[in-house]
Amino acid sequence: MNPILKLARPDILSLQPYQHAAWEPTLERMHANEMPWRADGDRSGAGLNRYPEPQPDALIEHLAKLYGVAAKNVIAGRGSDEGIDLLVRAFCRAGVDDVLICPPTFGMYKVSARIQGAGVIEVPLIKERGFALDTESVLAAWRETVKLVFVCTPNNPTGNLLDRASVERLCKELSDKALVVVDEAYIEFAGVPSMAAQLERFPNLVILRTLSKAYALAGARCGALIAHEDIVSLLARVITPYALPTHTIDAVLEFTNDAHVAESKQRIDLILCERARLIERLAPLPLIKKVWSSDANFILVDCNDADAVLRAALAAGLIIRDPRSQLGLGDSLRISIGTPEQNDRLVRGVARASGVAA
Ligand SMILES: *Cc1c(COP(=O)(O)O)cnc(C)c1O
Repeated sequence: MNPILKLARPDILSLQPYQHAAWEPTLERMHANEMPWRADGDRSGAGLNRYPEPQPDALIEHLAKLYGVAAKNVIAGRGSDEGIDLLVRAFCRAGVDDVLICPPTFGMYKVSARIQGAGVIEVPLIKERGFALDTESVLAAWRETVKLVFVCTPNNPTGNLLDRASVERLCKELSDKALVVVDEAYIEFAGVPSMAAQLERFPNLVILRTLSKAYALAGARCGALIAHEDIVSLLARVITPYALPTHTIDAVLEFTNDAHVAESKQRIDLILCERARLIERLAPLPLIKKVWSSDANFILVDCNDADAVLRAALAAGLIIRDPRSQLGLGDSLRISIGTPEQNDRLVRGVARASGVAA
């Protein structure tokens, strides 16, 4: 057994999980209290009258191949948000344990922790060094109650990759002390390999991947959590039964086939061109103070007047993200890279509001 499991909640380790209706596709189903007929017009593969396969073999095999790992190392859920939630619920005792996060970062880590009643320890990224990971401070902040350390690379909302060696150092130093959860939601835009290849080296490493961003499937709600098989088995006891809807399973298998992987690569290339173009055109505008470099499909901009930039975007029919309540982002806005036409429209709007021509 992976010794890291000793960090899990004892009541989860000893939990008798819900017994699904057995998945026996060779037999006709009279064991799950389903209707024996489809709804009129139901053209789904398996029939929506049937409960789906809990962790569908075909889907798990497919995701494992997509992410270059073994099927036993994958659990799929409704977005990587569900992966975050499962980890917090399985590892953090309410009112006792903590998660450690590095703000400014993705908001769900804190929300999931709060819902579970876990504490949140914050070790800020170092803004002066381009929002770099403060490895020493993370290690210094660790204490017995910290079960999960979340790092996001490329980080949302700052857009930068974290230094790989620093993340590996965290995994190593915390190998029997905490899970290191590496959220790679935007890794496809960064042109660097996933940490997944390091799974063998670090029994405490957990990787989150999502189909929501690079594969254009945010509405399908599917993400993968990649980890040592014992962690995967533990989380499989906690996940809601039949977590993945039939439509989600069908959509993922269809829209991440070879043709769609090629489509995704092409579109990523276009996004990267547009990202460079948007940065180049926004940077000189008087309302913009600084455009941070980005390894993702969005950019963080510091503004001289963020309210004016937000208003200019709205006037152009565009909504951009206001992360100003986050640590260190008092005058920042986050902009997702759009189509060339949308990016042009945004630049023109901000230029006009700046009183210059674009
Ligand atoms: C968008 C995002 C996710 C969420 O992905 P879902 O799979 O849609 O739940 C996870 N992490 C980060 C950092 C994100 O920005």
